[in-house]
Amino acid sequence: MIGFSLICASVLFSMRRGDEKLAQQTLGNLASSIDAEIARNLELYDMSMRNVAANMTSPELMEVSRSVRQMVLFDYAATARHFGAIQVLDAGGNVTLDSSTLDPKQQNFAGDEFFTTHQRDPLFGLYISRPMLHNGVYGIVLSRRIAARDGQLIGVVTGFIDYNYFNEIASRLQLETGDMISVLRQDGVLIMRAPFDQNLIGRDLSRLPAVQRALAAFTGSHLGETAQDGVQRLYVWRDSSHPLIVMVGRSTAVIFGQWHKEAQQIAGAMGALGLIACILILVLASEMKKRATMEAEMARLAMTDGLTGLANRRRFDIVIEREWQRAMRAQQPISLLMIDADHFKDFNDHYGHQAGDLVLCGIAWSIARHGKRASDCAARYGGEEFALILPGLSLAEAIELGERIRNEVGSIEREGMAPTTISVGAACLVPSAQTSMMELINKADTALYAAKSLGRNQTYPPSARNSLAA
Ligand code: GH3
Ligand code: MG
Ligand code: MG
Repeated sequence: MIGFSLICASVLFSMRRGDEKLAQQTLGNLASSIDAEIARNLELYDMSMRNVAANMTSPELMEVSRSVRQMVLFDYAATARHFGAIQVLDAGGNVTLDSSTLDPKQQNFAGDEFFTTHQRDPLFGLYISRPMLHNGVYGIVLSRRIAARDGQLIGVVTGFIDYNYFNEIASRLQLETGDMISVLRQDGVLIMRAPFDQNLIGRDLSRLPAVQRALAAFTGSHLGETAQDGVQRLYVWRDSSHPLIVMVGRSTAVIFGQWHKEAQQIAGAMGALGLIACILILVLASEMKKRATMEAEMARLAMTDGLTGLANRRRFDIVIEREWQRAMRAQQPISLLMIDADHFKDFNDHYGHQAGDLVLCGIAWSIARHGKRASDCAARYGGEEFALILPGLSLAEAIELGERIRNEVGSIEREGMAPTTISVGAACLVPSAQTSMMELINKADTALYAAKSLGRNQTYPPSARNSLAA
């Protein structure tokens, strides 16, 4: 699941990156085309103004008639829509010439910022004003200094771009909701903005991170929040070396909108799949646990005698083999007791099979009680015959234990029944290359047979103590 989630996350991430790259390209192209249009018109217009400024210094021009002078000066004057008349101001700020008329209105712009800038700074080239009312029309004033050969200010040439020029550019474009176009002056003053915002136009935005970056890098992009509406936008600009920088912004909600939808669907599907997988795993785990418990129980039952609860013959075979090997490695003795109920056929015949079963359970209980070490194994060998494997016990200890079992079984009293006795055969071997496990079983069997033939209700071989007493 973690692997699948990682793959999904990486696919989603690269999809997002693809969308961002596409947006950067689209916005870059948009910025590029607006920038190219404004830069071209501005350059043509500026060329005309420079031509005027250059010609104004030639003394011959002052000698020709007004109409000829008008023709020479404004021959190249731009006639693009929304680009206004070019005017020439004298050193005092009075309008002396106008490209649109031979008889310019008497006007003085000595107090305007563009005029004072040229007065103050002889090295200032093209001055672009903040959007303002000029001759009653809202727009921006372009101006250049007219200098005499000695560098003295002899006038200023001005041009004018109607604000509708920018509005028209913006309205021609197909924009998404939240899109934003800004045209900035090289010092970060906002010249134009779509959508139009009266409060922002003309303001110095050079402190905004996006503007700072645009002023610093020729071309690039910036992802950031717009202070006015709190919307996060991707801003892209191309060629910030032009007098006017065009910056296009698109909200990330639009850029990543489709991606967001798809990501939600994929994440939802992944979540649902994960949930289903988890549920399946839990169900499977619980089923496997149930099965394991059942198998363990079945394995236990397969090794247990149904009547007495002792190990059955199969388990006896496994344990004696294992203990024999272990005793061989440790070179330790291993003892075996074979225990058989005496005259049990008669008992059954007399008291019935069910009573016989109870007696067998009593014998089993006693044997199990006495063989309680972890390595001991009490088993029902068959019918009314039992075996007790006693690893590590000597023959004498095994006989001792056999006697204790025999005495306990003999002491069990049952109402209206004669006590049942048992015969015990004991054997002990230290396993070696010459001896085998079968030998131990045969020895114990033979001992049991001897106990039977010596009169039953006894352990054979008899304990040394008993023998001495006899
Ligand atoms: P001996 O002292 O020589 O061992 O005589 P015995 O009668 O015990 O031996 P025999 O082998 O002749 O008979 C074994 C009897 O044990 C026969 C059978 O009725 C009885 N027996 C074997 N298994 C069961 C059992 O599961 N339940 C009951 N009630 N009796 C069993
Ligand atoms: Mg018997
Ligand atoms: Mg028997």
